[in-house]
Amino acid sequence: MRLTVIGTGYLGAVHAACMADIGHEVLGVDIDADKIRALADGRPPFFEPGLRQILTRNIGSGRLRFTTSLREAAEFGDVHFVCVGTPQQRDSLAADLRHVDAVIDALAPHLRRPCLIVGKSTVPVGTTERLAARLTELLPDASAVEVAWNPEFLREGYAVHDTLQPDRLVTGVVSSHADEVLRAVYAPMLEAGVPYISTDPATAELVKVAANSFLATKISFINAMAEVCDASGADVVTLADAIGHDTRIGRRFLSAGLGFGGGCLPKDIRAFTARARELGVDRAVAFLREVDEINMRQRRRTVDIARELAGGTFTGRRVAVLGATFKPNSDDVRDSPSLAVAAAIHREGAEVCLHDPEGVDNARAVLPALRYSPDVSTACQDACLVLHLTEWSQYRKLDPVALAAVVRTPNVLDARNGLDAELWRSAGWTVRALGRPTPG
Ligand code: NAD
Repeated sequence: MRLTVIGTGYLGAVHAACMADIGHEVLGVDIDADKIRALADGRPPFFEPGLRQILTRNIGSGRLRFTTSLREAAEFGDVHFVCVGTPQQRDSLAADLRHVDAVIDALAPHLRRPCLIVGKSTVPVGTTERLAARLTELLPDASAVEVAWNPEFLREGYAVHDTLQPDRLVTGVVSSHADEVLRAVYAPMLEAGVPYISTDPATAELVKVAANSFLATKISFINAMAEVCDASGADVVTLADAIGHDTRIGRRFLSAGLGFGGGCLPKDIRAFTARARELGVDRAVAFLREVDEINMRQRRRTVDIARELAGGTFTGRRVAVLGATFKPNSDDVRDSPSLAVAAAIHREGAEVCLHDPEGVDNARAVLPALRYSPDVSTACQDACLVLHLTEWSQYRKLDPVALAAVVRTPNVLDARNGLDAELWRSAGWTVRALGRPTPG
């Protein structure tokens, strides 16, 4: 099949490469000419494990190409996947749909053949219906063009795996034709037994925001428990292990710490509350405001505990920050809790030296005033405090004995509960962690 993927960011670039890998002819489209040049050369414009290989392989086979021309896309595609950003609006909690709308408006005048437009971006419920109505206004014969929604659940860091072997596929369609087309697109996954849920567009749109709301709630739940543990001397890690054994609860997403961030969960739960208000069901998801508030509070709590560990003030203190990205195995710093903490303590007068395995370039673009170090040891040189803020696996393997020799004071705040506290303590470190008692 001939597919286009419009918007080749974290979602679209991976989707385009993976669709080519399962045998389709794919044209990736973006308005960012630099991004398109990089992708066409087989260079991923961001860090995502496995993406480079799959790009190179499929560009080499001729099945994957890139362009900035929507006209070329309209002429080429049987199916157009829309993967553009849907960030939070500047002045409200709602999603900013201007990129999605711009794609529809710019594509429509070039559509001369029957096609299916399939949204993958995360959008408020009702968007498919609204875009279909818009196309009816824009096209002289709208019957040949249909809109469907196929939300994406990939995780950055595992995006190639999640696209090729998803937990499930969800499609929202209004006709059996659209259903057949999407089943043909995903035929190799269906043959491999991936659960396939075909439903109406409103349900498909809602499945995505419901899934993200549930995940965000689970994280904020355990972080609320961590606050209670801190106040009572209990241990949130043991608590999470114990409740996680209950298969109705499960241990995953119960890691207490600095909370969630990134380009999805925070803006998705906010957009959901805004949409619920429009629909007159504000009360139904009012709890998501508390989920958001608990989450943002972890950033403030981390700064407060760090200040206490630094001796009551950051002024003139050198602090090493380990981790800039919102999660490990990604270079994405959008709404990163780690960067928010680094920025806050820098504003309070700390000299911050930051290390991240992949996120330094993006972090520097956002916070140029910080110092950046290519290795952990240099970042920790003469520090009075080390903050572990993103759970990269390499930080778990750090040698606390060697690091104790370079810092000014062996003081660490593990805001991700990822370090072996006993090991660090036996190397002479004072270890604080969120939701865990400090011995002595
Ligand atoms: P992104 O910002 O990395 O990528 C969006 C891309 O769209 C950019 O390259 C941008 O240049 C391009 N674009 C904007 N306007 C365009 C236009 N008119 N024509 C063509 N290209 C245009 O964003 P992302 O992280 O890939 O997210 C995209 C969507 O997917 C969002 O709705 C997001 O919520 C959703 N999503 C993201 C993830 C993820 O892990 N990143 C996972 C699931 C769903």
